[in-house]
Amino acid sequence: MSVFLQPLSDPVLTQKGVEVAVLREDLLHPSIPGNKWRKLKYNIRAAQEQQAQTLITFGGAFSNHIAAVAAAGQEYGFATLGYIRGEEILPLNPTLQYATGCGMELRYLNRTQYRLRNDLQFRAEIEKAAPKPYLLPEGGTNLLAVKGCTEIVYELTQPWDVLCVAAGTGGTLAGIVAGAKGKGSILGFPALKGGEFLQPEVAQLVQAYTGQAYQNWELQTGYHFGGYAKHTPELLTFIQDFHATQGILLDPVYTGKMLYGVFDLIMQDYFTRGTKLVAVHTGGQQGWAGYAQRYNLNLGFID
Ligand SMILES: *Cc1c(COP(=O)(O)O)cnc(C)c1O
Repeated sequence: MSVFLQPLSDPVLTQKGVEVAVLREDLLHPSIPGNKWRKLKYNIRAAQEQQAQTLITFGGAFSNHIAAVAAAGQEYGFATLGYIRGEEILPLNPTLQYATGCGMELRYLNRTQYRLRNDLQFRAEIEKAAPKPYLLPEGGTNLLAVKGCTEIVYELTQPWDVLCVAAGTGGTLAGIVAGAKGKGSILGFPALKGGEFLQPEVAQLVQAYTGQAYQNWELQTGYHFGGYAKHTPELLTFIQDFHATQGILLDPVYTGKMLYGVFDLIMQDYFTRGTKLVAVHTGGQQGWAGYAQRYNLNLGFID
């Protein structure tokens, strides 16, 4: 399946006169969903050109990025090495089981070591750990990732006024801002508490990639639901209802929070009547199995 725009139908949207469609980026690639494939595409190409053998990266134990790099390594013929934050917990959670199943080697870093992950000396040591390495930062965000995410906008053929996207490191948001080239308005929904920190980081990525300081974007920092990978019963109910009414499974860490925010803003009359809004489904459904286990959730709507 490929990416398409799925229009939503909901009484609130009719009442407020806002058109919302979900851009199904989660269906972009069969094994590397959503924005993680957008972010990896040009990095994989660079790794191939450099004749790298091993993709090395970092992430938490439930990370969509770790799962995506493992799948990409298997598909494109690279060994993969994942540095995981925290101690090894056995049996491996579903994300790490999947990653090792794709052939990824896992190594664990305690929190102090993990904090040094971008330190040059530490990186040099890590690069020595594998033959012909290609290093991907945590979350996969670099300028090649930004380049890949500009294509989310380039491939949108229908008219839109507002683009909404969830943000972790902000790389996807930066790519969308870069790809929009000043057109429309773009809203980023940080999944972390204190998401204001992304403002300068996204601005810097956009500036570095485009040489421009676009002003047509903003962060909506009020929809973190307690912090990264945290939730409230209200959020889970929203995700469950959304699945039942729209037939789209959101993820609990990113896209559920973003779409909750989109509907909340619509109810507050944040958008003028007639606004055409596109919400980007960046994927992340692989995280449900581990998430449900971790919080002991019994959710009938996830199979
Ligand atoms: C990683 C991820 C994001 C965040 O992407 P960034 O580029 O780090 O902001 C959003 N949604 C999903 C589903 C993700 O897996």
